[in-house]
Amino acid sequence: MEMKRYTYKQLSDMDKSYIWHPFTQMKAWEKEEILIIEKGKGNYLIDVNGKRYLDGVSSLWTNVHGHRKRQLDNAVIRQLKGIAHSTFLGLSHPGAILLSKMLIDIAPEGLKRVFYSDNGATAVEIAIKMALQYWFNMGRPERYIFVSLNNAYHGDTIGSVSVGGIGLFHSTYKPLLFKTIKAPSPYCYRCELGLEYPSCSLACAKEIDSMLSAHEDSIAALIIEPMVQAAGGFIISPPGYFKAIREITKKHDVLLIADEVATGFGRTGRMFASEHEHISPDIMAIAKGLSGGYLPVAATLTTQRVYDAFLGDYEEKKTFYHGHTYTANPLGVAAAIENLEIFRKENILKKIQPKIRHLKKGLERIAGLEHVGQIRQLGLMTGIELVKDRETKQPYSFEQRTGAKVCYEIRKYGIFLRPLDDVVVLMPPLSITKQEISHLLDSVEKAIKTVTEQ
Ligand code: PMP
Repeated sequence: MEMKRYTYKQLSDMDKSYIWHPFTQMKAWEKEEILIIEKGKGNYLIDVNGKRYLDGVSSLWTNVHGHRKRQLDNAVIRQLKGIAHSTFLGLSHPGAILLSKMLIDIAPEGLKRVFYSDNGATAVEIAIKMALQYWFNMGRPERYIFVSLNNAYHGDTIGSVSVGGIGLFHSTYKPLLFKTIKAPSPYCYRCELGLEYPSCSLACAKEIDSMLSAHEDSIAALIIEPMVQAAGGFIISPPGYFKAIREITKKHDVLLIADEVATGFGRTGRMFASEHEHISPDIMAIAKGLSGGYLPVAATLTTQRVYDAFLGDYEEKKTFYHGHTYTANPLGVAAAIENLEIFRKENILKKIQPKIRHLKKGLERIAGLEHVGQIRQLGLMTGIELVKDRETKQPYSFEQRTGAKVCYEIRKYGIFLRPLDDVVVLMPPLSITKQEISHLLDSVEKAIKTVTEQ
C-alpha cells in the first residue's frame, strides 16, 4: 500500500475506524485531533503534515541517540542483507553471541548469563519464572512468593501485573493475579508510613526486612525498579534505600530482581540505575533502550548461581521451558550492538553529565510554580508532580486530567510529552542538546502556567 496517497484526514479517519490504541480512552481519542508520525530526525518526530515535535519522552522511554542515527540505521540495513530472522530455539547467531558478551561486560558484577526476549514485560515474566524455578530446582518448591512494591510497574502481562502496584492499571485484573506480598513504596513526598526522610531511618526498607523475616521460607524473590519507580510517577528512592534492600535480601537469601527496563542505558546518568548504589542484583531485566529504541529486544540477565541450578540431565527436567518466537531477533540485536558501540565510541555517559546539570538548574525555576508539588529528577529522567494545593499536597481530581492538559498544551511549542496522571514526565533521548533542554523547560513552564492558572 502506497502510504503517500493518503491525506491526513483519510489516515485519521481510518485510524479512528480500525485501531484500538494502548492505554487510551478511545472515546476521547475519536474526538481528538491526533498526531500521525511519519518520520523522525535526531530528537524530533515529524508528522504527516511535516510538523516537527521534540520527542520529550523518547518514544515511550526507548530512544537513546535520536532518530535516524546513521550508525544504527546502517547496522540494521547491514543485518537485513544477511538475514532478518532465524529462530533462537535450537540455533544461535553471531549478533546475539557478541551482544551477550558486550552486555555481561557492562552489567553489574556477578551477572553472567543473558536470556533474550522481546519486550519489558516478557523480560520481567522471565525473571519471575526463573526465580521461581531456581528454588524449585534447588529442592525448595515452597519458595514461590514474590515481594513487590506499591506503585511498582513491571509491564502488562499477567505475571508482570501481579507484581505491579498501580491500582488504576492493575486492580481490575485482581482475580487473575498470583498472590504477592506488597511492600511500601519509597515515595517520600507522600510517605505511606507518615514519616519524613531522613529521620525515618528508611523505615520502609525496615518494613521489608520484617516481611522477609516473617515469610523467609516461602519467598522466592523481591522485584524492584532500582532508584526510580517510573510509571508509578517517577518516584525516586531516597539515598541508601536501594542499598538497604540489597542487604536485606542477601540477609534472608531472597533473590533480588532489578527491573532496569526504564532506567537502563544511561537514563539516570549511569549505564544502569543499580550502579548509583553499587548494587548487583541476582536477576536484571532490560528492554526499551537496549536497541537504542529501534526494535523490540529485551533480555534477562542472571548470575552463575541461578544459571547452574538449571543444569542437569534431561530426565531431571531442570530445563527452563520458556521462549518467544522472536527471541533475540537478529535485526534488533544488530541495533543493540551498535547502540552499545555508540555509548563507547561517543563517550555518551560522560557527555550527558553537563546536560543533566543543565536540566537540574532549569528545573529550579519550575519548582517555584504555584501548582508544582515536587520535582523528582535522576539523570535525564524527570517527573513534575502537579498538585491543586502545594501546602496540603492535595492532588487534582482524576477527571480534571491536569497532566494530560499540560502535555496537550505543550504541543503548541513543538514538543510531544505523555504524562503519568498528574506527573509531567520529561525523558528526552540522551542525544538532546542543552539548547533543546532549555526550550523544553521554557515550554513546560508556560504550559503548566496556562493550564493550572486557568
Ligand atoms: N518494566 C518497567 C520498569 C517499565 O517501565 C516498563 C514499561 N514502561 C515495563 C517493564 C514493560 O515494558 P514493555 O512495555 O516493553 O513490555
